[in-house]
Amino acid sequence: MIARLHDPDYSRWAHQIKRSGGCRQPIHLHGKVEHYDQATGQLLHRYTTRTEPGGVLRVPCKTRRASRCPACAEVYRADTYQLVRAGLVGGKGVPETVNSHPCLFVTLTAPSFGAVHVQREKNGKVLPCHARRNAETCPHGQTMSCTERHSADDPRLGEPLCPDCYDYDGSVLFNAISPELWRRFTLALRRRFARLNGLTVKALRAQASIAFAKVAEYQRRGVVHFHAVIRLDGPDGPDTPPPAWATADALAQAVQHAAAAVTAEVKPLGRTFQWGTQLDVRRITMDGDLTEQAVAAYVAKYATKAAECVGTLDRRIQPLDDLNALPVREHARSLIAACMHLGNHPGLAELRLTQWAHMLGFRGHFSTKSRHYSTTLGELRAAREEHMRAEEISTGRLPLFEEDTVLVIAHWQYAGQGLSIGEQLLAAALTGHHVPNLGGPDDA
Ligand SMILES: [Zn+2]
Ligand SMILES: [Zn+2]
Ligand SMILES: [Zn+2]
Repeated sequence: MIARLHDPDYSRWAHQIKRSGGCRQPIHLHGKVEHYDQATGQLLHRYTTRTEPGGVLRVPCKTRRASRCPACAEVYRADTYQLVRAGLVGGKGVPETVNSHPCLFVTLTAPSFGAVHVQREKNGKVLPCHARRNAETCPHGQTMSCTERHSADDPRLGEPLCPDCYDYDGSVLFNAISPELWRRFTLALRRRFARLNGLTVKALRAQASIAFAKVAEYQRRGVVHFHAVIRLDGPDGPDTPPPAWATADALAQAVQHAAAAVTAEVKPLGRTFQWGTQLDVRRITMDGDLTEQAVAAYVAKYATKAAECVGTLDRRIQPLDDLNALPVREHARSLIAACMHLGNHPGLAELRLTQWAHMLGFRGHFSTKSRHYSTTLGELRAAREEHMRAEEISTGRLPLFEEDTVLVIAHWQYAGQGLSIGEQLLAAALTGHHVPNLGGPDDA
């Protein structure tokens, strides 16, 4: 830290750190950008990292995961919020009239893989976990009852009453196949909605379309479920109103049916999976119980969480890792072990369970949306970068040229990642982000 502070390049370094928005593990780039006049071939401007501190430019890592980089995850969360919100109330290129389109907030859960400790609440009072008067005893001698009133931070929440009875294979296979189950759900929903209104899917497409934005969330038991915004549009997406007959009630009915009907198989094991019976379908309105703001905030919150929130690891499991030595609870260890042993099954290679063991089998995207839902994360980023470019030009760091008269040639090379512990402290002080718990430079 002292070496960095006394470095003659300190102020330029501090500028880079501020520009990377407090990123905890910035990517270091080597290289240059040259601007040539297209007509004459004359070099107009050259930027090279050679004059930067350490000869590198530091750019944000742009991770989604708060456990890796809180600053970049916050940018991602805010972008996701804007993206979901634009799809509900308009803005960012989506017309405001979209707020009159019928819209639902749907939660699709995973099925049960065995009884787990839960926190039940009723009217603000915590109820006993699994109170059963004549509780059965499982083949392992465990009484299938728990009368404790678990607190929210009880580490046993989400863990099975009997680990020997628990279907660990089923849990990780469900995670692995859930993106396919979601895809089938969206297809079934369109089919069902068309049929409810006496149309073929093709005829429906000419009159109405259905747009989605969804996020995956891990439940305490280590299985994913999905929260989705499902919106009815006219044939050309959010710019066109849906026909009058396309109502939220009809859409909700089609959601109920499609969620109950779809299945996905893991053929080599002869197992079939479907959604859990707990399906939640609610209308999103401007002023009701479930407002657009609330939904956008809720969806965005989950966009930056990953499996580490259920107590697994924040990195890939290596083949030589000793599973017994991993610093996780037994439940997570058993789920990881299930991924590792199923990952050896030749028929399951495409599920890539070994590679995704640290995610408990889930390898899907955390937040996805259909093409017409709203703007994209890329467009939001481009808008922000354009704003930064304008600032660079106005402060004289970048030349202002007519776009089509200039040839830009850029050479970039990856030159490492991360900050030393001293640099992390300086970065936190410079950007007002909280001081990280002192890990070294990122090991990823
Ligand atoms: Zn970052
Ligand atoms: Zn319990
Ligand atoms: Zn048992």
